[in-house]
Amino acid sequence: MISLKNVHKSFGQTEVLRGISMDVMKGEVVCIIGPSGSGKSTLIRCINALNDIQGGSITVEGQELRDPKLDLLALRKKVGMVFQQYNLFPHKTALENVMMAPIKVLKQNRAEVEIRARALMKKVRLEGKEDAYPGELSGGQQQRVAIARSLAMNPDVMLFDEVTAALDPETVKEVLVTIKDLAAEGMTCILVTHEMGFAREIADRVYFTDRGVIVEYGPPQSFFDDAKDPRTKQFLSQIL
Ligand code: ADP
Ligand code: MG
Repeated sequence: MISLKNVHKSFGQTEVLRGISMDVMKGEVVCIIGPSGSGKSTLIRCINALNDIQGGSITVEGQELRDPKLDLLALRKKVGMVFQQYNLFPHKTALENVMMAPIKVLKQNRAEVEIRARALMKKVRLEGKEDAYPGELSGGQQQRVAIARSLAMNPDVMLFDEVTAALDPETVKEVLVTIKDLAAEGMTCILVTHEMGFAREIADRVYFTDRGVIVEYGPPQSFFDDAKDPRTKQFLSQIL
Protein backbone atom coordinates (compact mmCIF):
# COMPACT_ATOMS: atom_id res chain seq x y z
CA MET A 1 0.00 0.00 0.00
CA ILE A 2 2.85 2.35 0.88
CA SER A 3 6.36 2.07 -0.40
CA LEU A 4 9.32 4.29 0.43
CA LYS A 5 12.49 3.74 -1.53
CA ASN A 6 15.73 5.42 -0.53
CA VAL A 7 13.96 8.60 0.59
CA HIS A 8 16.11 11.66 1.15
CA LYS A 9 14.77 14.84 2.71
CA SER A 10 16.67 18.02 3.51
CA PHE A 11 15.74 21.28 5.13
CA GLY A 12 18.22 23.68 3.56
CA GLN A 13 21.67 22.19 4.06
CA THR A 14 20.52 19.75 6.72
CA GLU A 15 19.74 16.27 5.52
CA VAL A 16 17.09 14.94 7.88
CA LEU A 17 16.15 11.69 6.08
CA ARG A 18 19.14 9.90 4.63
CA GLY A 19 17.92 6.99 2.58
CA ILE A 20 14.77 5.60 4.17
CA SER A 21 13.13 2.49 2.68
CA MET A 22 9.99 0.94 4.07
CA ASP A 23 7.03 -1.04 2.75
CA VAL A 24 3.66 -1.18 4.44
CA MET A 25 1.00 -3.57 3.26
CA LYS A 26 -2.73 -3.15 3.55
CA GLY A 27 -3.91 -3.85 7.10
CA GLU A 28 -0.46 -3.70 8.63
CA VAL A 29 0.40 -1.74 11.75
CA VAL A 30 3.87 -0.29 11.76
CA CYS A 31 5.43 1.57 14.69
CA ILE A 32 8.32 3.98 14.36
CA ILE A 33 10.41 4.73 17.41
CA GLY A 34 13.61 6.66 17.89
CA PRO A 35 15.21 9.57 19.68
CA SER A 36 13.89 13.09 19.40
CA GLY A 37 15.11 14.78 16.22
CA SER A 38 15.78 11.50 14.40
CA GLY A 39 13.31 12.38 11.63
CA LYS A 40 10.19 10.43 12.65
CA SER A 41 7.74 13.29 12.15
CA THR A 42 9.43 14.36 8.95
CA LEU A 43 9.16 10.81 7.66
CA ILE A 44 5.45 10.42 8.22
CA ARG A 45 4.74 13.94 6.97
CA CYS A 46 6.37 12.91 3.70
CA ILE A 47 3.80 10.12 3.33
CA ASN A 48 0.94 12.55 2.88
CA ALA A 49 3.10 15.07 1.06
CA LEU A 50 3.15 17.63 3.86
CA ASN A 51 6.90 17.49 3.22
CA ASP A 52 8.41 17.16 -0.23
CA ILE A 53 11.44 14.94 -0.75
CA GLN A 54 14.68 15.53 -2.63
CA GLY A 55 15.64 11.97 -3.45
CA GLY A 56 14.12 8.52 -3.76
CA SER A 57 10.44 7.79 -4.17
CA ILE A 58 7.26 7.34 -2.18
CA THR A 59 4.21 5.62 -3.58
CA VAL A 60 0.83 5.40 -1.89
CA GLU A 61 -1.53 2.87 -3.47
CA GLY A 62 0.55 3.01 -6.63
CA GLN A 63 0.52 6.80 -6.79
CA GLU A 64 4.02 8.28 -6.95
CA LEU A 65 4.05 11.38 -4.75
CA ARG A 66 6.66 13.19 -6.82
CA ASP A 67 4.49 12.91 -9.91
CA PRO A 68 3.71 16.50 -10.93
CA LYS A 69 0.16 15.38 -11.72
CA LEU A 70 -0.35 14.19 -8.13
CA ASP A 71 -3.87 14.96 -6.90
CA LEU A 72 -3.12 16.27 -3.40
CA LEU A 73 -6.73 16.30 -2.27
CA ALA A 74 -7.21 12.68 -3.32
CA LEU A 75 -4.02 11.73 -1.48
CA ARG A 76 -4.99 13.54 1.72
CA LYS A 77 -8.38 11.85 1.59
CA LYS A 78 -6.70 8.45 1.44
CA VAL A 79 -4.11 9.20 4.09
CA GLY A 80 -5.49 10.43 7.42
CA MET A 81 -3.16 12.05 9.91
CA VAL A 82 -3.42 12.75 13.61
CA PHE A 83 -0.88 14.88 15.45
CA GLN A 84 0.16 15.43 19.03
CA GLN A 85 -1.74 18.75 18.94
CA TYR A 86 -5.33 17.92 18.12
CA ASN A 87 -6.30 21.48 17.10
CA LEU A 88 -10.05 21.09 17.20
CA PHE A 89 -12.14 24.14 16.40
CA PRO A 90 -12.98 25.42 19.89
CA HIS A 91 -16.25 27.09 18.93
CA LYS A 92 -17.64 23.96 17.23
CA THR A 93 -19.05 20.93 19.02
CA ALA A 94 -17.31 17.58 18.85
CA LEU A 95 -19.82 16.36 16.26
CA GLU A 96 -19.43 19.52 14.15
CA ASN A 97 -15.66 19.09 14.23
CA VAL A 98 -16.05 15.58 12.85
CA MET A 99 -18.54 16.71 10.18
CA MET A 100 -16.67 19.72 8.93
CA ALA A 101 -14.17 18.34 6.41
CA PRO A 102 -16.56 16.00 4.56
CA ILE A 103 -19.02 18.88 4.14
CA LYS A 104 -16.58 21.71 3.40
CA VAL A 105 -13.85 19.84 1.54
CA LEU A 106 -15.67 16.91 -0.04
CA LYS A 107 -19.02 18.75 -0.43
CA GLN A 108 -20.88 15.73 0.88
CA ASN A 109 -24.52 15.78 1.89
CA ARG A 110 -24.93 17.13 5.41
CA ALA A 111 -27.53 14.61 6.59
CA GLU A 112 -25.45 11.66 5.39
CA VAL A 113 -22.28 13.09 6.90
CA GLU A 114 -24.06 13.49 10.22
CA ILE A 115 -25.11 9.85 10.29
CA ARG A 116 -21.52 8.78 9.67
CA ALA A 117 -20.12 11.29 12.15
CA ARG A 118 -22.42 9.96 14.88
CA ALA A 119 -21.27 6.42 14.10
CA LEU A 120 -17.65 7.58 14.31
CA MET A 121 -18.23 9.22 17.68
CA LYS A 122 -19.49 5.86 18.84
CA LYS A 123 -16.51 4.08 17.32
CA VAL A 124 -14.09 6.26 19.29
CA ARG A 125 -16.20 5.58 22.38
CA LEU A 126 -17.53 9.12 22.75
CA GLU A 127 -21.21 8.44 22.41
CA GLY A 128 -23.03 11.10 24.43
CA LYS A 129 -20.31 13.73 23.89
CA GLU A 130 -21.50 14.81 20.43
CA ASP A 131 -22.67 18.23 21.62
CA ALA A 132 -19.74 18.95 23.92
CA TYR A 133 -17.30 21.69 23.00
CA PRO A 134 -13.58 20.81 22.97
CA GLY A 135 -13.01 22.87 26.11
CA GLU A 136 -15.44 20.63 27.96
CA LEU A 137 -13.54 17.46 27.04
CA SER A 138 -10.38 15.91 28.47
CA GLY A 139 -7.24 15.79 26.35
CA GLY A 140 -7.82 12.12 25.62
CA GLN A 141 -11.40 12.79 24.59
CA GLN A 142 -10.34 15.66 22.34
CA GLN A 143 -7.71 13.46 20.74
CA ARG A 144 -10.38 10.83 20.05
CA VAL A 145 -12.54 13.51 18.41
CA ALA A 146 -9.50 14.34 16.28
CA ILE A 147 -9.20 10.68 15.31
CA ALA A 148 -12.91 10.57 14.41
CA ARG A 149 -12.50 13.76 12.40
CA SER A 150 -9.72 12.14 10.42
CA LEU A 151 -11.75 8.93 9.93
CA ALA A 152 -14.64 11.01 8.57
CA MET A 153 -12.68 11.38 5.33
CA ASN A 154 -12.79 7.60 5.04
CA PRO A 155 -9.02 7.11 4.72
CA ASP A 156 -7.29 3.90 3.68
CA VAL A 157 -4.35 4.50 5.98
CA MET A 158 -3.90 6.42 9.22
CA LEU A 159 -0.72 8.16 10.34
CA PHE A 160 -0.36 8.90 14.06
CA ASP A 161 2.45 11.17 15.23
CA GLU A 162 2.96 10.84 18.99
CA VAL A 163 -0.74 11.31 19.57
CA THR A 164 -0.54 10.49 23.27
CA ALA A 165 2.63 12.43 24.05
CA ALA A 166 0.84 15.55 25.31
CA LEU A 167 -1.89 13.75 27.26
CA ASP A 168 -2.36 13.22 30.97
CA PRO A 169 -1.31 9.68 31.85
CA GLU A 170 -4.85 8.69 32.82
CA THR A 171 -6.23 9.52 29.36
CA VAL A 172 -3.44 7.95 27.32
CA LYS A 173 -4.94 4.50 27.56
CA GLU A 174 -8.34 5.43 26.11
CA VAL A 175 -6.65 6.83 23.02
CA LEU A 176 -4.50 3.73 22.65
CA VAL A 177 -7.63 1.58 22.96
CA THR A 178 -9.21 3.56 20.12
CA ILE A 179 -6.18 2.98 17.92
CA LYS A 180 -6.20 -0.68 18.85
CA ASP A 181 -9.86 -0.93 17.82
CA LEU A 182 -9.00 0.59 14.45
CA ALA A 183 -6.07 -1.74 13.91
CA ALA A 184 -8.23 -4.74 14.84
CA GLU A 185 -10.70 -3.69 12.14
CA GLY A 186 -7.89 -3.88 9.60
CA MET A 187 -7.01 -0.20 9.23
CA THR A 188 -3.50 0.26 7.91
CA CYS A 189 -1.65 2.31 10.54
CA ILE A 190 1.74 3.95 10.80
CA LEU A 191 2.44 5.23 14.29
CA VAL A 192 5.23 7.21 15.81
CA THR A 193 5.04 6.39 19.49
CA HIS A 194 6.96 6.24 22.72
CA GLU A 195 4.49 3.77 24.18
CA MET A 196 6.68 0.68 23.98
CA GLY A 197 4.19 -1.69 25.60
CA PHE A 198 1.61 -0.59 23.10
CA ALA A 199 4.01 -0.95 20.16
CA ARG A 200 4.88 -4.44 21.29
CA GLU A 201 1.23 -5.37 21.52
CA ILE A 202 -0.10 -3.80 18.36
CA ALA A 203 2.70 -3.62 15.77
CA ASP A 204 3.36 -6.02 12.94
CA ARG A 205 6.77 -4.38 12.65
CA VAL A 206 8.75 -1.88 14.66
CA TYR A 207 11.28 0.47 13.06
CA PHE A 208 14.02 2.23 14.97
CA THR A 209 15.25 5.45 13.40
CA ASP A 210 18.31 7.43 14.37
CA ARG A 211 19.67 10.52 12.62
CA GLY A 212 17.63 10.03 9.49
CA VAL A 213 18.26 6.34 8.87
CA ILE A 214 16.47 3.16 9.81
CA VAL A 215 18.91 1.42 12.09
CA GLU A 216 16.92 -1.74 12.63
CA TYR A 217 13.44 -3.15 12.22
CA GLY A 218 11.57 -6.33 12.86
CA PRO A 219 8.55 -7.98 14.43
CA PRO A 220 8.03 -6.62 17.94
CA GLN A 221 9.08 -9.69 19.84
CA SER A 222 12.49 -10.03 18.23
CA PHE A 223 12.88 -6.26 18.05
CA PHE A 224 12.30 -5.66 21.76
CA ASP A 225 13.79 -8.85 23.16
CA ASP A 226 16.66 -9.37 20.81
CA ALA A 227 17.74 -6.04 19.26
CA LYS A 228 20.96 -6.39 17.33
CA ASP A 229 22.28 -2.89 16.78
CA PRO A 230 24.02 -1.18 19.73
CA ARG A 231 22.11 2.07 19.06
CA THR A 232 18.78 0.24 19.30
CA LYS A 233 19.88 -1.53 22.45
CA GLN A 234 20.98 1.70 24.05
CA PHE A 235 17.73 3.46 23.16
CA LEU A 236 15.62 0.61 24.49
CA SER A 237 17.64 0.40 27.70
CA GLN A 238 16.92 4.07 28.37
CA ILE A 239 13.23 3.90 27.64
CA LEU A 240 12.02 0.48 28.78
P1 ADP B 1 11.42 13.64 15.40
O1 ADP B 1 9.97 13.65 15.01
O2 ADP B 1 12.06 12.30 15.28
O3 ADP B 1 11.66 14.24 16.74
P2 ADP B 1 11.68 15.59 13.28
O4 ADP B 1 11.29 14.88 12.05
O5 ADP B 1 10.65 16.50 13.89
O6 ADP B 1 12.21 14.55 14.36
O7 ADP B 1 12.96 16.46 13.03
C1 ADP B 1 14.13 15.93 12.45
C2 ADP B 1 15.11 17.05 12.22
O8 ADP B 1 14.60 17.92 11.22
C3 ADP B 1 15.35 17.90 13.45
O9 ADP B 1 16.71 18.22 13.48
C4 ADP B 1 14.52 19.13 13.18
O10 ADP B 1 15.09 20.26 13.79
C5 ADP B 1 14.56 19.24 11.67
N1 ADP B 1 13.34 19.87 11.11
C6 ADP B 1 12.10 19.38 11.19
N2 ADP B 1 11.21 20.16 10.55
C7 ADP B 1 11.94 21.21 10.06
C8 ADP B 1 11.61 22.38 9.29
N3 ADP B 1 10.37 22.62 8.89
N4 ADP B 1 12.62 23.19 8.95
C9 ADP B 1 13.89 22.95 9.33
N5 ADP B 1 14.26 21.87 10.04
C10 ADP B 1 13.30 21.02 10.41
MG1 MG C 1 8.28 14.20 16.05
